Amino acid sequence: MRTDLLKHLGRGLLAVAAASCLTLAHGRSPGPAVIQIVNGNEPGIGFNDPSPALPVGGNTAATVGGQRLAVFQYAANLWGTKLKSDVPITILSTFEPLPCTATGATLGAAGAISVWSDFPGAEKPGTWYSSALANKLAGEDIDPVPSPTGDDLDIVAFFNSDLGQPDCLAGSGFYLGLDGLAPAGQIDLLTTILHEFGHGLGFQTFTSGRTGNQLAGQPSIWDHYLYDPAQNKTWVKMTAAERATSGITPRNLQWYGNTVIGKAAAVLDRGTPELFLTGPGLDRNVLIGTALFGPQIDSRDDQLSAQIGQVVDQVNGTGLACTPLSAANAAAVRGKIALVDRGTCGFTVKVKNAQDAGARAVIVSDNVPGGPPPDLGGVDPTITIPAVRVSLEDGTALKASLATPSKFGNYGVLSFNTQKLAGADYGKRVFMFTPNPFQQGSSVSHFDTSAKPNLLMEPFLNAGQPIAVSAPKDLTFELLKDIGW
Ligand SMILES: [Zn+2]
Repeated sequence: MRTDLLKHLGRGLLAVAAASCLTLAHGRSPGPAVIQIVNGNEPGIGFNDPSPALPVGGNTAATVGGQRLAVFQYAANLWGTKLKSDVPITILSTFEPLPCTATGATLGAAGAISVWSDFPGAEKPGTWYSSALANKLAGEDIDPVPSPTGDDLDIVAFFNSDLGQPDCLAGSGFYLGLDGLAPAGQIDLLTTILHEFGHGLGFQTFTSGRTGNQLAGQPSIWDHYLYDPAQNKTWVKMTAAERATSGITPRNLQWYGNTVIGKAAAVLDRGTPELFLTGPGLDRNVLIGTALFGPQIDSRDDQLSAQIGQVVDQVNGTGLACTPLSAANAAAVRGKIALVDRGTCGFTVKVKNAQDAGARAVIVSDNVPGGPPPDLGGVDPTITIPAVRVSLEDGTALKASLATPSKFGNYGVLSFNTQKLAGADYGKRVFMFTPNPFQQGSSVSHFDTSAKPNLLMEPFLNAGQPIAVSAPKDLTFELLKDIGW
């Protein structure tokens, strides 16, 4: 059974899709995969752009088009050294104008052209596999999708040729070097392509994360490995409504595949900063964003445990702490963890004011609903106390607890949990990206942004991502192995 995906492919970043399952019961092992880049551009544009180019970062092609193609081929070769398949993987690739403004742009996208189920070699019945993986498992080309070039296409990839023009994220542009050393402001094309090819090879579920509805009534191979500990079920065992809930429960959904679990400790840093809150109606860990300024909550620190004092300096009962604290507010937070609200001024201003008033740490309560709480940005080398952000929901619950009469009061415990990897749970199961509200094109089919160091398949391009797809630098290939590669 086959379903074409091309019609599902918008011109935005592709939602992720899926694959499932283990090794193949064929008599012999396939060799290294050959990945072919098919140039889909018309003469004179995109890969055929004849503008002369100077060598950059090991890319010595003499034209802009040639350098673009060299980056694609480099990414294809890097993936090809990892993957095993007897069937060539063919990627229809173009560089063309995509939606853009002066301040925002679609960088590009890639995805499987078709999905298959119940083919010879499919490990899980009634389950969608992307075509490149289906071919590998079947040991033959089962998806001879006709193309204008006569190639049997598996993946389509398109990238924005206008990037960096005045009307398209002005001043940016793709870095065409092969060394991962994009200068500030430029976007590393190689990293971007490695990421997008990852999706096309199977790093995505074809089930809708937003509605939970399966593609044509069948699960994707991914859904066998997406485990939700809050519901104690994998996606394949859930109703659509349960999957939709799972897709917006932050830092909960996990990858439950043995290859990723087995390599997680070799890739991810040990330790996760945590905040435990106690008080009437509380007593639980809450999700936090950490500050990019001030002391980090890491293994160098002892656990910080202190009472919580709320700043209230606004008539509506919130505390912005944008000005030096009043005597009453200073008395409320001295020697304690100060609770302040997000808004009006920068995070460093709030934290500095609390620090000046004698607070030992700061909790910033978000002012918009949803989660997980993003990190606190800003720079101020004079800040010497740790700060974290909690969600509006958790901040509101903390305030309600503070307002409840109690003999013991409210405490916060900031600690560094070395029993957990950065971006995984106690069982080394890596979190998937499931923010609330749902982010189309990003939710579910990426690793969570809490992973440290950054992983290739996080939803946002991060500076300094390694040019690698496998352990000990990354876990993308390991996830693909779990689904059958
Ligand atoms: Zn992606």
